[in-house]
Amino acid sequence: MAHSYDQTNIFARILRGEIPNKTLIETEHTLAFHDINPQAPQHVLVIPKGPYVTFDHFCAEASDAEIVDFHRTAASVCAMLGVSLGDGGAGYRGITNAGGHGGQEVPHYHLHILGGAPLGRMLS
Ligand code: AMP
Repeated sequence: MAHSYDQTNIFARILRGEIPNKTLIETEHTLAFHDINPQAPQHVLVIPKGPYVTFDHFCAEASDAEIVDFHRTAASVCAMLGVSLGDGGAGYRGITNAGGHGGQEVPHYHLHILGGAPLGRMLS
């Protein structure tokens, strides 16, 4: 079944400028901004500007340029937050939730980047 994108979701409204956000990075295809309810000392969301619901939807339908830009922007977020191992940082966690079983609340694809403290192991 095809993904159906809800144009009224909160990230779509942020992208249309209807709701303010604390932007960290904006590029042609991608926006990174601070999560309104941080779950770690640093918690940033990276979203594509296009209408994609989940990770797999994004990978299936976005252009190569969008996909590359998204991941390079996420890496830039890690550098800006000082959590990249390559810059001597202590690391971070990247998470994406998809659908009901994934616990996704906002139906616009997003990558959470969390860091700034030890986050513990999620999987054992
Ligand atoms: P998820 O459960 O993966 O869909 O995560 C949605 C995330 O969006 C949560 O971490 C929320 O705190 C965050 N969020 C919801 N509304 C806003 C907003 N207006 N600005 C920034 N982050 C938001």
